[in-house]
Amino acid sequence: MRAVRGLVGLGWLGLVACPSPPADGGGGGAATSGSGETSSTSSTSSTSSTSSSSGTTVAPTTTAPAPDAGAGSACGARSPEALMDCIDSERWAEDVAFIAKSRPPGSIHWQKVQDRCAAGLEKAGFTVERQDYGTGVNVIGRREGTEAPSEVVLLGAHYDHISGCPGADDNASGVAGALEVARVLGQAALPRTLIVACWDEEELGLWGSRAFAESFTGAKLAVAFNFDMIGYASSAEQSQIFPGPLAERFPGLAEELVAHKGRADFIAVVADSSAESFALELEAHAESLGRLTGVMTLTEAEKLDEDAFGVLARSDQVSFWEQGLPALHVFDTGVFRYPAYHCFSGLDTADKLDQAFAADVLKATTAAVATAAGL
Ligand SMILES: [Zn+2]
Repeated sequence: MRAVRGLVGLGWLGLVACPSPPADGGGGGAATSGSGETSSTSSTSSTSSTSSSSGTTVAPTTTAPAPDAGAGSACGARSPEALMDCIDSERWAEDVAFIAKSRPPGSIHWQKVQDRCAAGLEKAGFTVERQDYGTGVNVIGRREGTEAPSEVVLLGAHYDHISGCPGADDNASGVAGALEVARVLGQAALPRTLIVACWDEEELGLWGSRAFAESFTGAKLAVAFNFDMIGYASSAEQSQIFPGPLAERFPGLAEELVAHKGRADFIAVVADSSAESFALELEAHAESLGRLTGVMTLTEAEKLDEDAFGVLARSDQVSFWEQGLPALHVFDTGVFRYPAYHCFSGLDTADKLDQAFAADVLKATTAAVATAAGL
């Protein structure tokens, strides 16, 4: 995630006089009830009826999961729900451990991470291109849709990070997540084309994703999912910052957070209005796992207004919004939750991350992407 700049953003975070985010709930504050955002607290029990269907046990032959497809007993490629069960968070953790070292653009480790993106996508069955746009290199994996190949669903994550910080949450977590989702979705026959991308130079100002979005032609983008910081959670009470202006804009979420005792263990999704339905799909899947999820939908007027909700628009989804394309950001709320964001207060290392939280992000996103891709 890009650094928050300007007094508006810093003030929201209580950072004007101090470089560390406050340890308590910050300006979270209760808010009056109202509307404007969608969310629900339900933690419905997950009763996907896929594992033990009665009678004959004829395994589907064309969509059988790979032998190493993860631990879930219901794992399969026949439905979004079955694909969720193929997520193997151990693989995610291994990739995070590899990626989480200083890797500013042009460095040796930056190149290794770029290569790992390419290799992971190729192994998952994607056709891989490296998009050299002058100052940097995006890795673009593409898997043609079976029925509507000119319609594209995209999942991206930036692989660069600022110099001198390991960037485990920001954004080794997202890159590793995109690779794991790609591995799982590579097993499915998706009607629409799926692109999974590793963006470069996000921290410099969204340069990689912008180069891609500006040159995206010849196909219809259904939606772009962005992973940026998906690995940190805390179940400690009052560990989530939810600044006053956000509480006013999204009062239902503020109420939920109060009821949740300020715990920083929910999934956040920021969408523009044209991507809201995909965000709600993701939320429904996450809450089927018992994982609270908050969707914040920005209006057309809000999404590119730095002074209004710029703190919610600090990652690669903005490059798509700039082109009028639907996009959403799936994350752990970044600086509103994680003291080691950009190594402000402690190093951003893999040992601080929460594998169970990330697993739920990956499962819910896998299902949402599969649905968006027409499965
Ligand atoms: Zn960042």
